[in-house]
Amino acid sequence: MNSNYFNSNLNRAETAKLVVSAIQRVIGDLPAGLHEPRFAGNEWHYVKECLDTTFVSSVGKFVDRFESEVAAYTGARHVVAVVNGTAALHIALRLAGVQPGDEVLTPALSFVATANAVSYCGATPHFVDCDESNLGMCPVAVRDHLRSIGELRQGVCFNRITGRRISAMVPMHTFGHPADMNGLLSVAHDFSLQLIEDAAESLGSKYHGCHTGTFGVMGTLSFNGNKTITTGGGGAILTNDEELARRAKHITTTAKLPHRWAYEHDEIGYNYRMPNINAALGCAQLEQIQVFLQAKRSLFSSYAEAFSNIPCMSLLNEPDGCSSNFWLQTLRLEEADASLRETILMTANDAGYSARPVWSLMHNLKHFEDCPRSPLPLAESLECRLINIPSSVTLAARCGIDHNHLDLG
Ligand SMILES: *Cc1c(COP(=O)(O)O)cnc(C)c1O
Repeated sequence: MNSNYFNSNLNRAETAKLVVSAIQRVIGDLPAGLHEPRFAGNEWHYVKECLDTTFVSSVGKFVDRFESEVAAYTGARHVVAVVNGTAALHIALRLAGVQPGDEVLTPALSFVATANAVSYCGATPHFVDCDESNLGMCPVAVRDHLRSIGELRQGVCFNRITGRRISAMVPMHTFGHPADMNGLLSVAHDFSLQLIEDAAESLGSKYHGCHTGTFGVMGTLSFNGNKTITTGGGGAILTNDEELARRAKHITTTAKLPHRWAYEHDEIGYNYRMPNINAALGCAQLEQIQVFLQAKRSLFSSYAEAFSNIPCMSLLNEPDGCSSNFWLQTLRLEEADASLRETILMTANDAGYSARPVWSLMHNLKHFEDCPRSPLPLAESLECRLINIPSSVTLAARCGIDHNHLDLG
């Protein structure tokens, strides 16, 4: 089908109707949000225990337990739980050595938290392009860009145009699909950059058998209400480096020196500790993650089948060699058919199915417009043709695709 087909509003409307009826065939008639949490395990029980014992806040056993269970699940040697994913990124960047005045390579296509965290360090985000297939930072584009603007001086990478040091890169695993970590690690190595992974969206996603967030010097997770599992609000720093983990714990807990009663602090710290009541929720949620992941995979299969005959678009699948958590199901329109997006968004939302475009690219936000950037042809093209559709765990039960007997009732 060529692009002229959609010069007609009539045909755009017809195709949007096909999309909505495909969604309806999979998840039924009831309205559906984009990603709603599900509390069907020990949530009440553990949260009640916090209330009954009064340990709702910064002391309690659930924080330690949640940290060690996230470590066991991801394979990271150390985990530090914090108030949210943005705070986790802030601390990870600081501890990786990002200094005021530095530049940090971040995807133009990401949620705003990635670039904000760089700014909190007094550094400047430097936006780079993404890959068409996994929507993650593109190692080929980043290498080309660094060859053109970067310069290694005694093992330190500088931006020849701005004169600033480029100290790190922060790839992000978009909608739960792992970025090309081998390619990115190799660029980071060749240009002497620290690599910190924003794995906020990819709990449960693996790249060649290893959990996302465990490849860089540090990785970060989010447990916000719309993520794969939630603690209400929450985040975590993952690292295999014992000293970095100790530092992360210390500065996220006001840099207080351990003592039975005295308040002594040995540097400026942050009050970023995850409260016990949130960790209690997290422990209960993590117990159900296998069921959640199976449900999301089933939902993907059903959508993929339902969309297979609709022209001009495809459902984003997991990259080769990877296992995605399918956090948000994503329709990608063909480049020539981007003009369909608004009609689909309108028709789906009117029908009660939440559908959203991807984030505005970071360099188009007012406060980031002066930041340095590479050419962004793919990010700019993809921005206009990605649509997220209802992706909640609970939808797998609602649509009768419970092939795996998921007990989602
Ligand atoms: C959710 C998210 C974060 C962190 O969000 P918080 O709401 O602070 O937990 C960071 N980066 C990306 C890409 C995200 O999607």
